[in-house]
Amino acid sequence: MTSIIQLLPDHVANQIAAGEVVQRPASVVKELIENAVDAKATTISLVVKDAGKTLIHVVDNGKGMSVTDARMCFERHATSKIKAATDLFNLNTKGFRGEALASIAAIAHVELKTKQAADELGTHITLEGSKVLSQNAAVLPNGTSFLVKNLFYNIPARRKFLKSDTSEFRHIMDEFIRIALAHPDIEFTLIHNGSEIFKLPISSLRQRVVNIFGKSINQKLVPVSEETEIVNIVGFVTKPEFAIKSKNEQFFFINDRYIRNPYLHKAVMLAYDGILKDGALPSYFLFLDVPPESIDINIHPTKTEVKFDDEQSLFAILRSAVKHSLGLFSVANNIDFER
Ligand code: ADP
Ligand code: MG
Repeated sequence: MTSIIQLLPDHVANQIAAGEVVQRPASVVKELIENAVDAKATTISLVVKDAGKTLIHVVDNGKGMSVTDARMCFERHATSKIKAATDLFNLNTKGFRGEALASIAAIAHVELKTKQAADELGTHITLEGSKVLSQNAAVLPNGTSFLVKNLFYNIPARRKFLKSDTSEFRHIMDEFIRIALAHPDIEFTLIHNGSEIFKLPISSLRQRVVNIFGKSINQKLVPVSEETEIVNIVGFVTKPEFAIKSKNEQFFFINDRYIRNPYLHKAVMLAYDGILKDGALPSYFLFLDVPPESIDINIHPTKTEVKFDDEQSLFAILRSAVKHSLGLFSVANNIDFER
């Protein structure tokens, strides 16, 4: 009898899992910024070099970590956000899988500096390929600083597969914009190769949209607002005459989490039925709040897909809310016109 099965060492398991969570520099950006949001930061800055291929640095003023947690956060399935499987149906945080930091640390050079407000000193840890190289107490500001260098340094095939800097930076911008839109109550900065790309002060949602997409969008926005037992909807859609061919200005957020959903997109498009030029797409920034137990986010590691209990009702409510707003807008416009 020969037994040949072995448990993989942690660093190997982490590297395999990393393939799922970290597809490109933008995945690291998403995970680090989401962690900063979960830590209740009010200021989050992102600095990247070479589209994140050489350096990604996220600094937040959130609650920070204790000495023990600063080491523990790099373990796989280590999370402060859920304790039991039932918590999965009542999520109030972006994270819950406890695998992002373990994955990132397995395939990059990582430096973590973190301090909690109640502590005198913070913790400074460096890791490489899941191995802790150093851990020291340090004088630090409150909050957390995550520096990720040389992503995929130990997976040459993955590094080679990365697209041009322009394309990888576009992915970073996409992730950054999705999170920044969902949290106008947080100040965000993005710096790439030394140039400031975004500086977004705390503001209203409308102002956040304008700060990201430019002043000209302000006059195009129509507010949407609907409250029902199943869902509360707030946000903006653009007036039909401004619909363009751009596919980059359509955003759904479910409980402040950006999601892709072709079915809900169809509901919005139906609200515009008959009033759009061929091939034109309205821009929209729509926030759907639903009871956390009525959705399942744990479908894919990147969490951009969501399953709803009652998709059909959601579809109908969304469609009529948008339709109503567009109708209201033209009525208000007519009144203005008559005056
Ligand atoms: P998850 O977010 O799913 O819990 P992560 O691997 O992203 O898993 O993070 C592990 C843990 O590390 C988190 O649960 C949190 O307790 C801690 N952590 C990560 N980033 C931060 C941060 N910026 N500020 C405070 N704590 C953090
Ligand atoms: Mg996380």
